[in-house]
Amino acid sequence: MGKADVLTILQGEGLDVLTCIQCGTCSGSCPSGRYTSLNTRRIVRKARKGRDMLHDDDLWMCATCYNCQERCPRGIKIVDAILTIRTIAVHEGAILPEHRDVSRFVLEYGHAVPINDPIKKMREKLGLESLPGTVYKYPDALEDVKTLLRSCKFYKLVQE
Ligand code: SF4
Ligand code: SF4
Repeated sequence: MGKADVLTILQGEGLDVLTCIQCGTCSGSCPSGRYTSLNTRRIVRKARKGRDMLHDDDLWMCATCYNCQERCPRGIKIVDAILTIRTIAVHEGAILPEHRDVSRFVLEYGHAVPINDPIKKMREKLGLESLPGTVYKYPDALEDVKTLLRSCKFYKLVQE
């Protein structure tokens, strides 16, 4: 995919980043940016300029808290744009190894986070049922989950 196409897709979805005035309110509001290299203003700038951001690890540092989107003086749907860019990146095979690993867990076990005995104990300590209401509690649903994942070709996205 050409770099300019990302901008075209964003605009086609009503995510117009071209009105950004680079004020930095988004970066200043970003809790993730305080602990990671994420610079939201820079991501928006790259999207505007049609620069390659599909391979930018910062794309994955956003916690989707929507602080930036709520505060942007130009009303830019920043997070929606980031999520769209992530989707494009995954379809282009640009996926972090950690996300690939988690995806494999979902494909195999129908669950992103394995539940082991220490986690079960911790859940009970917190007053929760030892097992969450997922395929761990309803193992018969695992085949249904796998069928769903197969039908949407999720496995193809996470293949190396
Ligand atoms: S807050 Fe909005 S206008 Fe300001 S830099 Fe971020 S995206 Fe651009
Ligand atoms: S939604 Fe993402 S980019 Fe925006 S403030 Fe939250 S963590 Fe930062």
